[in-house]
Amino acid sequence: MNDIADIVIVGGGSAGCALAERLSADPARTVIMLEAGRGDQHPLHAFPVLTGHFYRQKQDNWYYHTQPQPELNGREVFWPRGKRLGGSSIFNGMVYARGNPDDYNRWAQFGNHGWSYEDVLPYFKRNERHQHGETDLHGGAGMVHVTPARPRNPLFKAYLEAGRQAGYAQVSDINSPDRAGVCYYDFHMSGGRRSNSAGALLRVARSRPNLAIIDRASATRIVLKGGRAVEVEYRRAGETRRVGARREIVLSSGAIGTPQILLLSGIGDPEHLREVGVTPVHDLPGVGMNLVDHLDASIRVLSQGPVSLIRELRVDRLASNLTRALMFGTGPVSESPISAGGFFFSRPGLRYPDLQAFFIPTQITGISVWLPYTARARRMEAEHGYSLRMGPVRPQSRGRLTLASPDPDVAPRLDPRYLSDGSDLAATVEGLKIARKILAQPAFEPFRKGEIAPGPDVMSDAELAEFVRETANTVFHPVGTARMGSDRLAVVDERLRVHGIAGLRVADASIMPTITSGNTNAPTLMIAEKAADMIAMDDRA
Ligand SMILES: Cc1cc2nc3c(=O)[nH]c(=O)nc-3n(C[C@H](O)[C@H](O)[C@H](O)COP(=O)(O)OP(=O)(O)OC[C@H]3O[C@@H](n4cnc5c(N)ncnc54)[C@H](O)[C@@H]3O)c2cc1C
Repeated sequence: MNDIADIVIVGGGSAGCALAERLSADPARTVIMLEAGRGDQHPLHAFPVLTGHFYRQKQDNWYYHTQPQPELNGREVFWPRGKRLGGSSIFNGMVYARGNPDDYNRWAQFGNHGWSYEDVLPYFKRNERHQHGETDLHGGAGMVHVTPARPRNPLFKAYLEAGRQAGYAQVSDINSPDRAGVCYYDFHMSGGRRSNSAGALLRVARSRPNLAIIDRASATRIVLKGGRAVEVEYRRAGETRRVGARREIVLSSGAIGTPQILLLSGIGDPEHLREVGVTPVHDLPGVGMNLVDHLDASIRVLSQGPVSLIRELRVDRLASNLTRALMFGTGPVSESPISAGGFFFSRPGLRYPDLQAFFIPTQITGISVWLPYTARARRMEAEHGYSLRMGPVRPQSRGRLTLASPDPDVAPRLDPRYLSDGSDLAATVEGLKIARKILAQPAFEPFRKGEIAPGPDVMSDAELAEFVRETANTVFHPVGTARMGSDRLAVVDERLRVHGIAGLRVADASIMPTITSGNTNAPTLMIAEKAADMIAMDDRA
């Protein structure tokens, strides 16, 4: 063995960085964090408008693809995940959305004591530094900056006005419990720059002598001795090494990395492990199960004039816009392309909205800025337009992650089984109808040239459903693969300890029993904040 610490954190993403910051704040505790990707920051990741560019690049990216999805007409869906300190927060969309109170009350109702909305709200607040300071709902002294969007592109204003014209409320704080309607989102941003987890949370912690971050270190296995997790085996620069934990090991490698490491360690369904050539060590059949993600589809409209965001990203303007963003933190490069959206009901009788929308001032849903990728995509980008994405936030479809090989370098099989529960398709179709209703309002009249997708020929529910199958895409929120609970398929208990193994916890997006009603980064940071308290408490016991 090469190193030892009180706590070993595996994975330096959103959750890992929050854990490292909290746990190393006590100088008496030594912490080592392993991260598979690079340990430094890429300067251009800071600019919000480049998000759609970077998540498509292979660099700093696990670059996964799902299995062919039968309900998506056999399509494989591209799943980028960040592979650098900061994890997926290095190139995520930065939307700060906590979900609604019932998301957490449901976790508590499943028997997870301490996870009700009232219980978790202080952890959301502790992490947050909201631009408008401390309130009953928001934190003002945390390390992760949160800034409400105030975009200047006129299409955003038209969208909010169209929402009002269509009869929807304009929500001023999308993280308040009452949030049905159209809105500008809050963002993990400050001064026009991304506030990613590593940049925000490790700023102080990195220089602490009791925290060591080992980057380019890919964990391959947890080593158990007598039912206790004692070491992590990892590969770095072609060498296999080990790091030991005196107190505990915390897996925070995300909803894909964490179950993969557990399975590679022989912790999972013994039958599956034998099938792929891993010796079963601990029977925990729920590892990799309960894989769930958000999926949405878009209505795309061509605009009359050169009003979309593309205008600002033309080569001649991009240089000056980048300079402006760099020097003053202002201008179109400093604004998120998904500044507006909202939450809607697909059917009556629900207490909280079950659909989320993202309005984008381009008719494509991601923008690649300077590297050509396909000629067709380039041509599409050149056409001005706008789009409205809509999808269910509490999907019922559940899939599974399994190993494809005992080799840690081989990506696991990702099968989210999108739309396998028919209610998800029905809700998406209703969502597209709401999107069309909003986009048809007078506020868009000065801009509207015509719908290009799905187009005027696609009107019936059956036609819309086929359009969803053909085009729906991930919202990049896989969670749930090491679910918290106390039943046979649960992987961790309410204190996030892996069932049946001492000294091993999971703290990241994989512990979510059900997906939250919105984007998943803020809930993941909350999970890490709460985990850090539980670890510190158990440490003292
Ligand atoms: C393109 C994109 C857009 C998104 N947009 C939003 C958004 O707008 N708002 C929002 O709230 N959420 C968004 N998300 C989701 C959000 O980023 C994730 O929910 C969040 O990052 C999950 O945090 P995590 O700590 O569980 O995992 P991650 O942040 O993914 O971190 C996992 C870390 O573990 C490391 N790791 C993995 N395996 C190993 C291993 N074997 N050894 C060592 N290290 C390992 C990884 O390299 C990574 O650094 C988006 C995600 C993507 C990819």
